[in-house]
Amino acid sequence: MAEAVTRRTTCRLCGSAALTLVLSLEPTALANAFVDAAAMCTAQTLYPLDIYLCERCGHAQLIDVVDPRWLFQRHRTAIAEVPAAVESTDAWADDLIRRLRPRQGALIVGIGSNDGTLLRRFDAAGMRPQGVEPVLDLARSAINGGVPTFPGFFSPGIAERIEEERGRAAVVIAQNVLAHADDLAAVIEGVQQLLARDGTFVFDVAYLLDMVEGGLFDGILHENLGYYAVAPLVRFFHSCDMELVAVQRTNGRLRGFVQRLGGNLRSDATVEALCELEGRAGLATPTVFEDLGRRIAATRNALWSLLEPVQQAGGLIAGLGAPAKSTSLLYQLGLDRQVIALIGDDTPWKQGLSTPGLHIPIMPTDELVRRRPDLLIVLAWEHAEALIAQARSCLGWEGRFVVPLPEPRQV
Ligand SMILES: [Zn+2]
Repeated sequence: MAEAVTRRTTCRLCGSAALTLVLSLEPTALANAFVDAAAMCTAQTLYPLDIYLCERCGHAQLIDVVDPRWLFQRHRTAIAEVPAAVESTDAWADDLIRRLRPRQGALIVGIGSNDGTLLRRFDAAGMRPQGVEPVLDLARSAINGGVPTFPGFFSPGIAERIEEERGRAAVVIAQNVLAHADDLAAVIEGVQQLLARDGTFVFDVAYLLDMVEGGLFDGILHENLGYYAVAPLVRFFHSCDMELVAVQRTNGRLRGFVQRLGGNLRSDATVEALCELEGRAGLATPTVFEDLGRRIAATRNALWSLLEPVQQAGGLIAGLGAPAKSTSLLYQLGLDRQVIALIGDDTPWKQGLSTPGLHIPIMPTDELVRRRPDLLIVLAWEHAEALIAQARSCLGWEGRFVVPLPEPRQV
């Protein structure tokens, strides 16, 4: 599988070759490469996880690129499987409908449209949805749910087909696509091909400022090639004859509204305000990433001081939740199978599998708590409250939990 990695030499946003290594993390297995029992005797390939900063435009990125067919054509979690994700996706769609007011019958295209959850909301509001999704299972479930979806990676070719068959789009929405795409220029070329003259391109991506301020390093994964700030994007869209007119910072995400130069939307003060915050935080400088590196080390030490007494007493330590991000978390915090014996996660397709690279077995949460672990580390820390409540209801006793991020704490 080693041949599936290529190394790029230029910045994805501006093409400059002046890229500086600013943060070198522990190499990890691919975050979604869960394995079954038969594959557990084979060691999985570990890939470098190094962030480079562009000296010209300030964009932070991975330059070691794993072939996207390895990354995205495996089983992945559908939005519909996670109630909290459905709720936030619906709320986002409602916000977009209110804000952009697409006409009845307008074409709305989702890129990386998952199982069609977001687009179904537009369908219900009287618009015509069209998805594009590379994960075949997800594309199939979107189609079964009534959302026409092209299985594949969005490209100028797919954009052309959609335009021929369905016309131009009033809104093109890229969910997380900017972070995943190696060839961004091709994505934007496709968007321009597809977007009506007065159309809006909307993107949603993890926000670098929240990642560094919160010390949320577990979002650094091979599939996330770009770590986005507003300032480099302003210049990038301008270089594509487009303009970033507004941004929203919400729950660690950055959402942007982009139009062709001279379009109808008026730019508001949000873009400038975030650029200013980024400047003050020194987001385009290596210092921010050096600080993040130190913070990871501090998190590791603080967590270990909570785990060591349990380990020395021969107690059973287990994990709660195995999202893709937990792969990074486990590797960067040095938590292997010697430390965490088992993980409880109720995602149906993960049952009976083990975690990528480290091969920690996954089982249903109630089965895990029946083994009475002495300490549970909440790996899916963003859902800590719900997971702890669920585990406690199966436990019949209070239990001891550690939430590792943003700062390790015992509950
Ligand atoms: Zn650049």
